[in-house]
Amino acid sequence: MINKIHSLGGYIHEYQKSIANPEAFWTQQAECFFWRKRWDKVFDWNFDEPNIQWFVNGKLNITENIFERNLYTHGNQEAIIWEPNDPNDETRTLTYSELYQEVNKFANTLKRLGVGKGDRVAIYMPMVPELAIAVLACARIGAIHSVVFAGFSANALQERINDATAKVLLTADGGFRGDKITPLKKIADEALESCPTIETVVVLKRTNSEVDMVVGRDIWWHKAIDGQSDTCPAEEMDSEDPLFILYTSGSTGKPKGIVHTTGGYMVYTAYSFSNVFQYHVDDVYFCTADIGWITGHSYIVYGPLLAGAKTLMFEGVPTWPNAGRFWDIVAKHKVNQFYTAPTAIRALLAKGNDFLEEKKLQSLKVLGTVGEPINEEAWHWYHDHVGLNRCPIVDTWWQTETGGIMISPLAGITPTKPSFATLPLPGIQPIIMNGDGKELTGNSVEGNLCIKFPWPGIARTIWNDHQRFKDTYFSTYNKMYFTGDGVKRDEDGYYRILGRVDDVINVSGHRLGTAEIENAINEHPLVNESAVVGYPHAIKGQGIYAFVVCGELSTGGEEGIRKSIMQGVTKIIGPIARPDLVQLVPGLPKTRSGKIMRRILRKVAEGDATNLGDITTLLDEDVVDKIIDGALVDV
Ligand code: ATP
Ligand code: MG
Repeated sequence: MINKIHSLGGYIHEYQKSIANPEAFWTQQAECFFWRKRWDKVFDWNFDEPNIQWFVNGKLNITENIFERNLYTHGNQEAIIWEPNDPNDETRTLTYSELYQEVNKFANTLKRLGVGKGDRVAIYMPMVPELAIAVLACARIGAIHSVVFAGFSANALQERINDATAKVLLTADGGFRGDKITPLKKIADEALESCPTIETVVVLKRTNSEVDMVVGRDIWWHKAIDGQSDTCPAEEMDSEDPLFILYTSGSTGKPKGIVHTTGGYMVYTAYSFSNVFQYHVDDVYFCTADIGWITGHSYIVYGPLLAGAKTLMFEGVPTWPNAGRFWDIVAKHKVNQFYTAPTAIRALLAKGNDFLEEKKLQSLKVLGTVGEPINEEAWHWYHDHVGLNRCPIVDTWWQTETGGIMISPLAGITPTKPSFATLPLPGIQPIIMNGDGKELTGNSVEGNLCIKFPWPGIARTIWNDHQRFKDTYFSTYNKMYFTGDGVKRDEDGYYRILGRVDDVINVSGHRLGTAEIENAINEHPLVNESAVVGYPHAIKGQGIYAFVVCGELSTGGEEGIRKSIMQGVTKIIGPIARPDLVQLVPGLPKTRSGKIMRRILRKVAEGDATNLGDITTLLDEDVVDKIIDGALVDV
């Protein structure tokens, strides 16, 4: 069992304990797990090199903590409930015992293919149970998995395989997404034209698409596992042995190969999962992320399975066959905890309330959000119409680099406030810094969000580039982890994420967070989504340029909407935040994880679209062309 907090008083008590004596606090959490050899020291760290170690010299295998540790009590309970893309196809469930056998079988398969401890395995697969099986099979034998989201292009895949020098690639013939099929094997073949380290490709049959199999390199999944034993002893791992590499979403530039290790990541994901979502035995938990992102790693696979939870995996998209798909799944499986992203919430909000039927949503107890700041309109819609005014929303702030949730309400325990991530989890010590390297103490302050003490889930390095790790996170401020995000601590000590520090706009000496202005714009009844950036302005230093997506145009036409948006912002925040330019656009440039890529918009607003930087993680290049065509400055 993982230690759980049950009340606000309990939270405050645990938090204080975790700060006063982190060794004792984390010892207590780690003791909930099965270690082959206990650690010698709880942590050892410096943020200069940086060098961070948790549960030093502890020996374990994370899958032993999912399976062997849970099998006696949970063997026949569902581990994974899988919902296919097509609602007419059958759900698949795997109990803990069944998943254990499948993982062992595939672990033995990998061994037979010559994969051993420390080898990298690239995974480019659709959201099917075999993806989770593959991830866990790697962990079973100590191979380092590097999951690449199956929406990425051949180039992006190639770059990631080569950076990690992976030995084996796991993929599928294709992947279903709504009414489309992504030809994964074809894309992989293109990527592999220049991936010298790949020796074997294992191909899962999913869409029955026609594929070319390269003799001597490619093997079908079902043939590869045929005859493999379903027992496989777990490899003994050191706490600090890498568990996986995962590339960041690339919102701000070239993706970084973030490395997470075994012991600390295990303790942190399980602890944060159980406490933030307040998971109870027999609950059904549904996170809509893809396993290709950190949210899927920590909160579809590792966190829930370590906690012995029932985790629901969905193959498809929220809007196919219609915008009621999520709610149908909630109804069908009686989902209790539902975790998604603001981008999905805004997209569904724009479709109206016809798809929401109260009777389908009765099982919900907790709603969660992650990935971007959630604007108030979306928060209220989520709260009132999805949560039927009774489910707490956990707005979880964290990053690929943090491994797990850092600042968030504990469901039903921490009083919430729309668009606030509220308070840090036990063990997390946020600190707000200004541009001059000074700490901003007390409440009602805003600045740059840093963390001043390590926690078990923190990334240890960037694969092959420790210098970049140091430069990006540990060089801006002395002896601190710098998150890159701007934050405000309000009069109650609650944290609100203001967006990326690079995106903060400085208008006549006033610092304005993009999230705050977008929040005000989105209040406009015709606006679905917006993104604001700064651009050079002769008088004010920076002007505010807003890119706005509207559902429909009202009678006043474009000009009327522009004006009323500007007036709305003036009313909500003040004249200082009033956008100088409002461009109506058909869509926003987004990463494949659904985040707005403001750096591209900044280029457009600056009148320079010649060098847009790394756009391999961009979802739709057409949108960018259309935005450039309609730009209100000379591009
Ligand atoms: P890259 O680092 O490659 O630019 P990325 O930062 O988008 O990509 P992730 O690690 O997936 O990659 O995202 C973490 C970021 O997402 C945070 O730094 C923050 O800006 C944003 N974020 C995540 N959750 C929240 C939240 N609840 N509220 C506000 N912002 C959030
Ligand atoms: Mg980032």
